[in-house]
Amino acid sequence: MTHIPHDLSHVQSRDKAEILAQALPYIRQFHGKTMVIKYGGNAMTDPALQQAFAEDVVMLKLVGINPVVVHGGGPQIEGLLKRLGKQGEFIQGMRVTDAETMEVVEWVLAGEVQQDIVGMINRAGGKAVGLTGRDGGLIKAQKLKLLDQQDPSVEHDVGQVGDIVSIDPSVVKSLEEAGFIPVVSPIGFGEQGESYNINADVVAARLATVLRAEKLLLLTNIRGVLDKAGELLTNLSAVEVDALIADGTISGGMIPKIAGALEAAHSGCNSVHIIDGRVPHAMLLEILSDEAYGTMIRSH
Ligand code: ADP
Ligand code: MG
Repeated sequence: MTHIPHDLSHVQSRDKAEILAQALPYIRQFHGKTMVIKYGGNAMTDPALQQAFAEDVVMLKLVGINPVVVHGGGPQIEGLLKRLGKQGEFIQGMRVTDAETMEVVEWVLAGEVQQDIVGMINRAGGKAVGLTGRDGGLIKAQKLKLLDQQDPSVEHDVGQVGDIVSIDPSVVKSLEEAGFIPVVSPIGFGEQGESYNINADVVAARLATVLRAEKLLLLTNIRGVLDKAGELLTNLSAVEVDALIADGTISGGMIPKIAGALEAAHSGCNSVHIIDGRVPHAMLLEILSDEAYGTMIRSH
């Protein structure tokens, strides 16, 4: 893992100035542009990393970039379900979400995790506003049809797990334009007003597409996409991704992440990166420096 010192007291002033000056072309290039950032994994549970994340988001906003945050919360949901004595059940990586589990998902994501992030950003000097898919009719969803991997004639019932039907980004745009930082929980709503639990990477990717975002950054708990030998793949195309999924190199939570990344890349998002949220200021380094981090996903 790249070592980045937290304590910059020993860094020469001239070096600090050099680092700041390096950011200028990026600030100019990205001024007024939207960047969708999926916040999850360890970066979301470690207090020092949380602080660094919140500061980075505020910094981006202050230099004229429009960050839109989409957050996950798997470990937090798992924690509360355990405390309530509810056993999690998964089918093909999807959490079976009965009505009671969906209530827990909504409490945790919209009530706790989202509000924690909003609070952190605001304490760092930003103006964050929390949204779920319900707010402003942001995310319309329907029940996910989960076909069996071996036998596609069999459909599994995973309850209130959702597929995105459409996204109406007008509420996000209005907030952006008024100087706010939207923080979105990955909950969609159906025709009867019912709630759906949606993978946060999928929401971030679709939002990036609909908003015509300049960048999609997926912060995670690993260096990026790794090959069979555990080496970082710095650059991946759709064809390479297909091969890595087919031979089992990419599995679990990396599958929706990479699928979302590809979708965003295909639909015109200029740059899509899976980066290590365990590195302090990973996002700022990716956006405002010459360095390349993690895995970049190309559409071709
Ligand atoms: P997040 O909270 O960031 O969505 P996930 O657990 O859903 O985290 O997805 C990231 C995980 O995907 C990694 O921690 C790793 O265990 C798993 N994974 C599966 N295949 C790969 C791969 N080829 N490279 C990197 N991570 C992978
Ligand atoms: Mg995940």
